Amino acid sequence: MEENKYKNGDALDYIMNLSSVPSKLPEKLELLRTRVLCNNDAPQHTDTIQYSGAYAALGVDNSLRLDNFCENFKVEVNKLTEETIEFDMIGIDPALANAFRRILIADVPTMAIERVYIANNTSLIQDEVLAHRLGLVPINADPRLFEYPENAGDEKNEKNTIVFKLHVRCPNKVGQPRITVKSGELKWLPNGSELLGENKKPNAGSQTSFSCSQDSIPQFSDNPPRPQYSDIILAKLGAGQEIELEVHAVKGIGKTHAKWSPVATAWYRMLPEVVLLKDVEDELAEELKNKCPQNVFDIEDFGYGKRRATVKNPRDCTLCRECIRGGKDWEDRVALRRVKDHFIFTIESTGALPPEALFTEAVKILEEKCERVITELS
Ligand code: SF4
Repeated sequence: MEENKYKNGDALDYIMNLSSVPSKLPEKLELLRTRVLCNNDAPQHTDTIQYSGAYAALGVDNSLRLDNFCENFKVEVNKLTEETIEFDMIGIDPALANAFRRILIADVPTMAIERVYIANNTSLIQDEVLAHRLGLVPINADPRLFEYPENAGDEKNEKNTIVFKLHVRCPNKVGQPRITVKSGELKWLPNGSELLGENKKPNAGSQTSFSCSQDSIPQFSDNPPRPQYSDIILAKLGAGQEIELEVHAVKGIGKTHAKWSPVATAWYRMLPEVVLLKDVEDELAEELKNKCPQNVFDIEDFGYGKRRATVKNPRDCTLCRECIRGGKDWEDRVALRRVKDHFIFTIESTGALPPEALFTEAVKILEEKCERVITELS
């Protein structure tokens, strides 16, 4: 009967469900498969075991199965602010976690200032330095509403370009203090360029050919394009000095230039696991608590004046290894480990997109990349 149940099904399922096939590895091997052991000298067992037949001699199937992945994969958000998200990504290979990190840094598009047309600059700061500083100002505008400029040849239209102007003059008066020009002075021009170029060739002047005002884009009614931070210092002007310019922001990716990278940083660390291998009591418990700069340990009173160390905040462990320094005895008391498939992921957005949207965009880009590979292979 048992065999009939699998008659039309998967042979592998049948084999794996035989009572004579062990479903789990022995505890010691499971530990080496799932944890990085952080010893005093160096971490051990850092690699992930990918080979499907790695434990075939023990009758354990190590193949990567989509149904297992779907069952075990979890994302749990711990912290979300306007600029930062921290979440746990559980049940994923380090290569995939790293793929998300790299996509976030280099492949998720944003809008950034690409062209600067300077009509007048009598400040001390040179044109090229001023242009460089402007290029690095994060622009708050949803890149999903725009096209890449390459799609339109050299034409700068309302679908691929956002235009800002900046015009600041320091009054020419005796005793006039210097004024500071900040990014907040960049004013959005929804109808496109206001500067006149000397000739009409594309790229030769600052003209744009907007067929309609960007004001009409519904998403801009509440949240018009602007520099994400209004207090970034661009230049200082002395009495009588002036800067007048226009800048064009276009869509691009961090792979081309870091100014398009949507993240200040995107990083992850494996979940720390701190285990007390034996009871650490009284003075030793006090010593252990004091060794840890992160307050990972606590002391509990278990009656009759006896005190014992406990692990209170393993997540805060930075792997400084202070707790296992001071001789072999300490290494025998405390085990420091990292969970190989559990990542604490942090994304700090520059402000172009909310951090949670950045991650979903990264997932879409990875999906597209996979589809491209599948198409090219088939
Ligand atoms: S490795 Fe450092 S941070 Fe982690 S528990 Fe030990 S002393 Fe604390």
